[in-house]
Amino acid sequence: MTTGLIYDDIYLSHRIGTHVESHERLIGIMDFLNEKKVLENPNFKLIRPRKATKDQVKYVHQETLINQVKEVSEKSQITGHIQQLDMDTAVSAKTYEASLYSVGGNLNGIDEMIAGKVKNAFASVRPPGHHSNSYKCAGFCIFNNVAIAAEYLLKEKGLKRVAIIDWDCHAGNGTSDIFYNGSKNGEVVFFDSHQDGRTLYPGTGFINDIGNEGGQGKIINFPMPPRASDDVNIIFFNEIIAPICQEFKPEFFLISAGFDTHWTDRLTNMGWTYQGPANYLKKIKEIAGEYANNRILITLEGGYEIDKQAKAVYNCLQVLDDSENELIEENARKSDNDVLNYVSNKVIPKLKECLTPHWNCF
Ligand SMILES: [Zn+2]
Repeated sequence: MTTGLIYDDIYLSHRIGTHVESHERLIGIMDFLNEKKVLENPNFKLIRPRKATKDQVKYVHQETLINQVKEVSEKSQITGHIQQLDMDTAVSAKTYEASLYSVGGNLNGIDEMIAGKVKNAFASVRPPGHHSNSYKCAGFCIFNNVAIAAEYLLKEKGLKRVAIIDWDCHAGNGTSDIFYNGSKNGEVVFFDSHQDGRTLYPGTGFINDIGNEGGQGKIINFPMPPRASDDVNIIFFNEIIAPICQEFKPEFFLISAGFDTHWTDRLTNMGWTYQGPANYLKKIKEIAGEYANNRILITLEGGYEIDKQAKAVYNCLQVLDDSENELIEENARKSDNDVLNYVSNKVIPKLKECLTPHWNCF
């Protein structure tokens, strides 16, 4: 079966000037995929997005926030100037529209997967979403695409258990806030790896933030020390994600994929290579094969080195397609011993200690 690639030029119309979260990020991805003739390969299928309804956006956002994005977009249209929702988060005339299609692209990916038309999918969309919570847009994000996708699966598709894995370098604080007390429509487990919040925006996502009420034990943060390479996420996967998924048995995997963990990324201080996300995805895919009928939807979040991001996305698509044509970065970096010791002897044991009351596997 084929792998879906969700894209439309509408995503370029959220055009916010000389901002790092630029439309050139998507141009870079799509140009590279064309150069590699990905969409000429019958194993891939281009999926066009639809516009999500306001009711669907309301699954996770307050109506006042949705209206605010609409009004600020209209103001940008009238004045001809980019507007700001906060210091980092800009809005252009087409932002509201592009944001609805960004959500709807993910929903179309889910529909195609549930209908058995594609086995998995990558949503090459923007604006991104994982910093936006129910009442506030933040960190370049407008509507929380991945959180709405999770609620869509629970509410409209009748699923009971969804796993979200966020490998963007920044903590997915919006997603965490949205599911912190659980979902009233089913169960969501949120695995969030990110550069330690003491050293990077948004400054959240600590080990002992494990959720509350219905979400207790289901918010799982893995703060990576600066300079860590992608090898630390394999430790996180083996020690935490795999045992929890064997117990939780998620029926669907959603991935908030940021590519800003790359060692060259200008906003962060990590040491990942561009095959790092693909290596992590291979592990996720094993579990998805076991419990979720292989269903994985990846949605794009951050990533600010355009050429590295394009290669990392290409590599993820190769993994989704079960092919072995990944691009391997020369001089692959490994975490140094101090980092590995800190992760294995401090972070993982402390995380297990926090999660022990909520999971039998620990
Ligand atoms: Zn990020």
